[in-house]
Amino acid sequence: MLTELHAVPGNPGIGEHATLHPKVSGRDIDAITALATKLEVDLVVVGPEAPLVDGLSNRLKKHGIACCGPSAAGARIEGSKVYAKELMDRAQVPTARWEAFSDVQAALAAINRWRGPCVIKADGCTGGRGVFVCMTKVQAEKALHALLVDAQFGVSGRRIVVEEYLQGIEASITVLTDGTNVVPLHVVRSEKRRDLNDQGPNTDGMGAWLPVEELYEQQVEEAIEAGIKPALADYRERGMDYVGVLYADVMFTKTGPKVLEYNCRFGEIEVQSMVRAMDEDLLDLLHRTATENLEGVTIAEPTIASAVVALVDASYPKLERTEATAAIAGLADAAEMDDVEVFLGNVEATGKGKAKGVGSNGGRVLTVTATGATVEEAAALAQEAAALITFDGKHSRSDIAAAAGIFA
Ligand code: AMP
Repeated sequence: MLTELHAVPGNPGIGEHATLHPKVSGRDIDAITALATKLEVDLVVVGPEAPLVDGLSNRLKKHGIACCGPSAAGARIEGSKVYAKELMDRAQVPTARWEAFSDVQAALAAINRWRGPCVIKADGCTGGRGVFVCMTKVQAEKALHALLVDAQFGVSGRRIVVEEYLQGIEASITVLTDGTNVVPLHVVRSEKRRDLNDQGPNTDGMGAWLPVEELYEQQVEEAIEAGIKPALADYRERGMDYVGVLYADVMFTKTGPKVLEYNCRFGEIEVQSMVRAMDEDLLDLLHRTATENLEGVTIAEPTIASAVVALVDASYPKLERTEATAAIAGLADAAEMDDVEVFLGNVEATGKGKAKGVGSNGGRVLTVTATGATVEEAAALAQEAAALITFDGKHSRSDIAAAAGIFA
């Protein structure tokens, strides 16, 4: 049972439920460990991948603090695409054909040899933005240039993976694992491209929904057996425990499921979609995960649908922030609607007293979630609520869940 909640560094959204520690950076492992020790917390749940890659989980465990999130070795599955691909090959996980490069000419030669569309990915952490789906040679050349010559993602893009472009139904499969037991959570689908009709650059997500009626149960089971369990077995075989969340982006192709990538934490919009349709107590699940107590735990099938619409700013998904803080209006109106919940993302508190408000800090600013009897209903309600919220440079997709066939 939750008695006290603290957030590092937190924002005005979680600030409604938690004590915030804005002076502690989310990247400062020493400071986070010191704070957790001082507060004598029972559990630390790590949201983003970067502190896990840096070894936050190892450090907390050393201090006897339970942590839901894998060790630095575990987090490499997300921290390096090359590492993940090598693991997939070793564990015989089905994935797209690939090669790694750090030289433009060598990468170009391979792309010419392969022919057809390809996907170019920065090796390191890029917050979901270092992936370029290239349908033409010109696009591939541009992506190679951005990564290897212009170093748009710094050291994260110094090495790249070039892989075969796959077609099919893409879905996110997330499991909780305590190192021994694997508990699959709800399957979610999401929209990755920034613009309407799947146009524009890849993002870390413009919207999500569940349930995923486009897939048979058997296909999902196959993806867990072929795509998730062998990766976890590989960790075990090499003497490393993987404890926490493992979330795989899977392409369900004509020849079966293929893993596009692994993440060592929840996807933001994916988990928002899940929690809106989940009856189980998420805190209890995360605590059981961290304390190796998941035996016998199962998650009931969702009985309602949920949808998420992300509101981003004009420069998204560029990393640099171009706009000044923009006041956000209409939050209270949206939050008042039945079956709607708004999650604040990249925002900051503005003003004081009666002028107190929330301002957009660029990027993915907030997400509007809604539930309904069907995906269509949930998506329509989320769009209705999203329309009430305004800020300078606001951008969103009006066709979230189109791939579920709801606009047919
Ligand atoms: P990733 O971060 O590797 O999951 O890539 C981000 C997004 O790019 C995915 O969610 C897909 O929509 C797309 N993508 C990545 N790899 C491929 C691939 N091999 N074929 C087609 N689309 C891909």
